[in-house]
Amino acid sequence: MDVALRRKPMSEAEEDLSKIREGRDLSFFDLTSIDQVSLKDLALLYDVARRFRDYRTYKFSFNKGYSQVNAFFEASTRTQASFDLAAKQLSMDTTSVGSTNSSAKKGESFIDTVETLSAYNARAIVIRCSQAGAPEFVARHVAASIINAGDGWHEHPTQALLDALTMLDECASEDLSGRVVVVVGDIKHSRVFGSLVRILKKLNATIRVAAPETFLPDYVEKFGVSTSWSVEEAIEGADVIYALRVQEERGAKGDIPTLREYSKTFGISAKRLALAKPEAILMHPGPVMRDIDVHSALVARHPQSRILRQVENGMALRKALLWLMCDRADGATKSYELL
Ligand code: ASP
Repeated sequence: MDVALRRKPMSEAEEDLSKIREGRDLSFFDLTSIDQVSLKDLALLYDVARRFRDYRTYKFSFNKGYSQVNAFFEASTRTQASFDLAAKQLSMDTTSVGSTNSSAKKGESFIDTVETLSAYNARAIVIRCSQAGAPEFVARHVAASIINAGDGWHEHPTQALLDALTMLDECASEDLSGRVVVVVGDIKHSRVFGSLVRILKKLNATIRVAAPETFLPDYVEKFGVSTSWSVEEAIEGADVIYALRVQEERGAKGDIPTLREYSKTFGISAKRLALAKPEAILMHPGPVMRDIDVHSALVARHPQSRILRQVENGMALRKALLWLMCDRADGATKSYELL
């Protein structure tokens, strides 16, 4: 971080952020799907996230007195660490529960677990679980704001928000009209795709999907994307190549002959990357399976890779989301129905 920014007195830094926010609020109290996010919400989130990004690890007091619970019932590195750090840098208290250390292991129901966490007056509960739709269901019945950090094969909205921020910055534009985004890989099991396709449609991108037939569910067409079994054909002239991981834990290996075969036909190599526009960028939500979804030399340090930029944007975006959701300018509170 710029030393001048790091040493800035808190009141000045907070004034700076508040000026950018201009008293605006998001249109939602929980975030479970990209369908809830309007273009106005996107503009607000990105204005604030970009400024938080400049301040990096600066400690703000915006959310002081609020708590956040990270309830991760599936593995996570990036999403969990960034939500936790983001909350702490906003002065929130945080705690974590997961599949190995929570009473879910003893058979407690999902709603009972979340209601319990909410009873600690948690302001936000970040949930990752294998049941599609579970965050949306609990959001209707608890006071805390629920953020979906990945529900089964369904959606992963904060991933899409940070991905679109990365693309928009690259294009220095407010939408993605005229830009070609190619998504390659295991579409069928990917919640990342579920949110990405929704945000790319909102931003008017042209979307191409390249995958083995067995990774291409029929509903993909309803999003108005073009599909191809030839990765070379799809990548030709693209602006963004977005590779997905083969989701072995969801049975994806049963849909392809072998990982080696998959890598040979769909893995992103330097030769394939060269078919895109010369200034095209390579993205991946992580974790990357080196030499399967993306060839090793292209992963973090390649000049066209934006994989670490995505990680950095994840932190700023989640901080913006937590501030805007927890510390509403209009003082409005969420309504919910007790079950
Ligand atoms: N981290 C992302 C997710 O949890 C992508 C992946 O695991 O492949 O969905």
